[in-house]
Amino acid sequence: MVKAAVMWGFNEPLRIDSVKLKAPREDEVVVKVVASGVCHSDLSVVKMVLPIPPPLVLGHEGAGIVEEVGSAVQNVRPGDHVVMSWVENCGRCLYCTAGDSHLCDTGVRNAMAGKEAVFEKDGVDIARMAGVASFAERTIVRATACVKIAEEIPLDRACLVGCAVMTGVGAAVNTAKVRPGETVAVFGCGGVGLNVVQGAALCGASRIIAVDLADAKLELAREFGATDLVNGKETDAVDAVKSLTGGRGVDYAFEVIGVPAVIQQAFATLKRGGKAVIVGVPRMGEEVGFQGWSFPLEGKSIIGSLYGSASVHRDMPRLLELYQQKRLKLDELISRRIPLEAVNDAFAAMEKGEVARSVIVY
Ligand SMILES: [Zn+2]
Ligand SMILES: [Zn+2]
Repeated sequence: MVKAAVMWGFNEPLRIDSVKLKAPREDEVVVKVVASGVCHSDLSVVKMVLPIPPPLVLGHEGAGIVEEVGSAVQNVRPGDHVVMSWVENCGRCLYCTAGDSHLCDTGVRNAMAGKEAVFEKDGVDIARMAGVASFAERTIVRATACVKIAEEIPLDRACLVGCAVMTGVGAAVNTAKVRPGETVAVFGCGGVGLNVVQGAALCGASRIIAVDLADAKLELAREFGATDLVNGKETDAVDAVKSLTGGRGVDYAFEVIGVPAVIQQAFATLKRGGKAVIVGVPRMGEEVGFQGWSFPLEGKSIIGSLYGSASVHRDMPRLLELYQQKRLKLDELISRRIPLEAVNDAFAAMEKGEVARSVIVY
């Protein structure tokens, strides 16, 4: 039996339960979870913004130690330290073979559906979110979703690379491919937004304008490399970004919240030829309107960024290498370390904008 935080219904607190872990399939691995970040997308599932049906074990930003492997597993063995990717890389589908493994057929299907049940309680199957389910002491993941990392990296830091860091840094480095001297605005400075800021800094952006409604998050954004701070509560964010860029606007505007009105704002801050990069996830069914002429007559465009367009087996070890060289911040992302039992409090703190990341430590 393992202890897990189970979502039994939408819009209800998670319940700490003792659940049974099923046997791994031949291509799966049992991971003893050591740490898991609490991400906004976990809360989005509870609130039906990302409607993955319960019962379900949430958590998709986990790191741990491999305990057991299925008979066909070759890439990891018991004792290996791993970060779990919430999009597995099958290595064989059209996307994987084309070099876009973040869009992997089976990976994306499993990430969005969460259909596979690896837990059970009193004969009821319980699914794992995004192929990971790191709100449990032990979980089962596909071996191709296990990214082996160096053992000297603390797992409570490494887990953050599993979602927030990869998604944020990857949006700047892989999706936008920001170049030295270009200008960037980042709307939303939570766990992922801060990482877009530090990704843009790694790329050598000249101006990194952080936009948020909370001064505490903006101050944190400065630590992560923001050159200018805009509080959207006090000033019109679009005007502010424009005036900071000589009236022209930015090369890239990242929206990291998932609110249609903010996506429109991000688009409005672009200079001609600029790109809005959508990282935040709007509620399913929600539409976003734009002035159509802006696309052909100003050459502006909108691009989406899933999981930082990551090739996880290439990118996650690289990010951790940068952390070891003290060129990537992870420690500063952790606002608090908590036991699994405090996961609902972590959701509440996140909604109040009190934390960058709460990390569950088992
Ligand atoms: Zn996440
Ligand atoms: Zn694939």
